[in-house]
Amino acid sequence: MVRALRSHRRSQRFESSNAHQIFFENLVKFDPDPPEAEKDLNKKGKLDLKQQINILVKLQALDSQIYELNAERKKIPEELNLLKQKYKEKEEGVKQTEQEVKNKQLEIKKMEGDLKSKEEVIKKHQRQLYQIKTNKEYTSLEAEIKNLKADVSSLEDKVIGCLDEVEQMSKTFLQHKENLNKEEQKLKQEEELANRRCQEIEQQIKDLNKKKEPFVSAIESLFLSQYERILVKKEGEAMSAVKNGACGECRFMLTPQVIEEIKMGKELIFCSSCSRILYMKQ
Ligand SMILES: [Zn+2]
Repeated sequence: MVRALRSHRRSQRFESSNAHQIFFENLVKFDPDPPEAEKDLNKKGKLDLKQQINILVKLQALDSQIYELNAERKKIPEELNLLKQKYKEKEEGVKQTEQEVKNKQLEIKKMEGDLKSKEEVIKKHQRQLYQIKTNKEYTSLEAEIKNLKADVSSLEDKVIGCLDEVEQMSKTFLQHKENLNKEEQKLKQEEELANRRCQEIEQQIKDLNKKKEPFVSAIESLFLSQYERILVKKEGEAMSAVKNGACGECRFMLTPQVIEEIKMGKELIFCSSCSRILYMKQ
């Protein structure tokens, strides 16, 4: 009985001394929802360096997501501007076709005016024919009428040709205009989608920043500032896991001594090539 009691107490002591370790293991396993013991994370200086590096790795995972989201958000207006530019070019094309149709119609109107006045001159000349006295004058006027009639005939051909052309151009214009209207709708939809995605991204970043809080609080301010400085400099990748004896990010070969130092976890070890914080993957 006494032995059983002692054994029970021993195990209680054991549990108590390991409580911090267990809490830490839970924290490291934290992925992605906060652990129950999150509030304990605010107690600074309780975790040793190895534990803090593990937390930095978790923090890095969140920061990587934030960097990716920021990059995506930055691209959205750029992509949208590209679409707007393409739309504008098409719009210009349609406007140009419209102008060409109008020009052609004006050209036809002018030719029709010419045609009318030439026909009037012909009629006038034909009336004059009856009043002419000499054969010479008659022949000359008749030749003029013949020339004018030839002009009229060629102008009529031209007008018919232009009318066919304008009909074809109008068809093309209407087709392009219809396509443009569809493009405009599409562009509006794209804009709406982009705005919605921007809002989503902002919310996701907000959530991620919230998730970061317990991790940030658990890390000593010196380590944190070093981590953050590298994070900015290396565009979202401050931590580098050792892979096959080299820095996992820049592939710089590490000496066995450096690897030993990383394993010991007495101080932060930086890659001497890319200056990221090195750690052993667990
Ligand atoms: Zn490196």
